[in-house]
Amino acid sequence: TAVPPEQRTDTAVQIDGVRKSFSGTVALEPVWLKIRRGEFLTLLGPSGCGKTTLLNLIAGFLDADKGELFIDRSLVTQVPPHKREIGIVFQNYALFPHMSVAQNVAYGLRTRRVSKAETEARVRETLALVKLEDFADRRPRQLSGGQQQRVALARALVIRPRVLLLDEPFSALDRNLRTAMQVELKEIQSCLGLTTVFVTHDQSEALSMSDRIAVMSRGRIRQIGSPGEIYDRPQNRFVSTFVGDANLFDATLLETSGDAASIDVAGTRVWLRTYQDEMPEPGAVTLFVRPEKCRLTRAGQAGTLPATVALSVYQGSHAELHLDCSAARDGRVMLRVPASEALPVGTAVGIALPDAGAALYAMEGETE
Ligand code: ATP
Repeated sequence: TAVPPEQRTDTAVQIDGVRKSFSGTVALEPVWLKIRRGEFLTLLGPSGCGKTTLLNLIAGFLDADKGELFIDRSLVTQVPPHKREIGIVFQNYALFPHMSVAQNVAYGLRTRRVSKAETEARVRETLALVKLEDFADRRPRQLSGGQQQRVALARALVIRPRVLLLDEPFSALDRNLRTAMQVELKEIQSCLGLTTVFVTHDQSEALSMSDRIAVMSRGRIRQIGSPGEIYDRPQNRFVSTFVGDANLFDATLLETSGDAASIDVAGTRVWLRTYQDEMPEPGAVTLFVRPEKCRLTRAGQAGTLPATVALSVYQGSHAELHLDCSAARDGRVMLRVPASEALPVGTAVGIALPDAGAALYAMEGETE
């Protein structure tokens, strides 16, 4: 049986201290990253954090200021894009409008001087892979957005790339189509065992598709790990708030014992276990807890934080309760409850903090 991507150790792409600036402004701080063979790695971060710059450096569309890049162990830092054997899919498809679907897909093979017979066979096979066998003779403008993106994917796959790069490929599609395309891409990728680097600013897309996620901000990778690690054990304030919903409280760290911490939150004292490697110094800290780790109690229960229901948002399977809570960093806490248990606005409640699964962040570096 195949080794699952998270257990593979061989490196397909190695990025060693690669840095990029544009006329004096740093777009990418030196980055070190090993992308494993066959893995689906996502670069996730807000607009301008350097995701596309890193992708373009791997593709060879940009030259690094310094650092080295290896694909399949060979140094490619000076190798031009078309010789890197990389498949690329962009957000805007970038199909040739005057060519048929089959001609678009065949393009990369023509420039590589593949024989006519083999080209025909590979185009047919790749169109079947993306479920477009019957559309070979159409022009791009006669296709839907999702179909056009599948042509772009086929064009990238037909050259049998060593690495597939995708830059926000589904952002122009409506939500249902987007979800369908995510599933399709994931199936094709894992079936082919294709090393894939995917760029998105959409955290749910990253969580659902990736073997690993590299969360970026301001030209740096802030954390890299499996979706579960990133969601359950964010290592800093930026990752906590950018991925998933975060409840943040102003707290004072009183004492620690191993991974357990005694904290004071607005006069309420609790002990809780953190998942962090390093605890901050005693003093003012920020407490981070995911919504599903907090529990709703009746008002006034000992050891809980007083709060009031400010807004209840119906979500079908559950309701989001937004609570006014003076202990919270921005005065608000969010919890999810079964839709049938949603409470009316104005209800006084208590918030019980969890025994474990929280994190404490030092006040320094307040911006992230
Ligand atoms: P987005 O999701 O908006 O595309 P991104 O995370 O992909 O954002 P990059 O496109 O990599 O971000 O840009 C990183 C930084 O580098 C930004 O501040 C951007 O303005 C700058 N930048 C990118 N390309 C150039 C360029 N060709 N010339 C000058 N500055 C650039």
